[in-house]
Amino acid sequence: MLNLVLFGPPGAGKGTQADFLIEKFKLIHLSTGDMLRKQIAEETPLGLEAKSYMDKGFLVPDSIVIGMIKSILQNDKEAKGYIFDGFPRTVAQAKALDVILNENETPVSGMFCLCVEKDELVNRLLFRGKTSGRTDDQDVSIIENRIQVYNEKTMPIKDYYLEQNKYYMIDGMGSVEEIAERLSNTVATL
Ligand code: ADP
Repeated sequence: MLNLVLFGPPGAGKGTQADFLIEKFKLIHLSTGDMLRKQIAEETPLGLEAKSYMDKGFLVPDSIVIGMIKSILQNDKEAKGYIFDGFPRTVAQAKALDVILNENETPVSGMFCLCVEKDELVNRLLFRGKTSGRTDDQDVSIIENRIQVYNEKTMPIKDYYLEQNKYYMIDGMGSVEEIAERLSNTVATL
């Protein structure tokens, strides 16, 4: 079973590359951002709570996102593997993911960090904001906050996976195809 964690700052291209990887390696895509936006669209209590954090560019509490991932993984034990996109985003989430996956005896295979320069991130997000309708992509101060939260809360996960020899750095600059090729060449070495 192949369990890939796609890692990187907002705007690094995790969703775009996940689409490519699910096709190539026949994996299931789990994006906590997409799951949360679905809850918001359906106006569930969870969605309403999550929205107050997401609108400002803060992380949704660990208990909410861990619970969402847990319920999916416990109900689908037959999958060939998963791509985790936007999860884990804190060390507590990374540890919780290991506990859940170890119960299923299907550990994380590797964590792939898409590395992109900050100016490029802001440009990509503002561009996406024009078409996606996502309000968190339309305001530079919210974007800056998300990047700061990434540096403070999410970056420490790198060491967590480095210690397990599961960290892979991928150059996330260039065309979608070039990055996809770098990623799939690295995944193929696992
Ligand atoms: P991006 O990678 O561009 O920030 P996402 O769709 O992954 O887009 O996330 C959008 C927002 O959803 C985040 O800014 C955060 O508020 C919330 N979110 C998504 N995943 C998580 C997570 N694992 N933990 C906490 N908050 C999350």
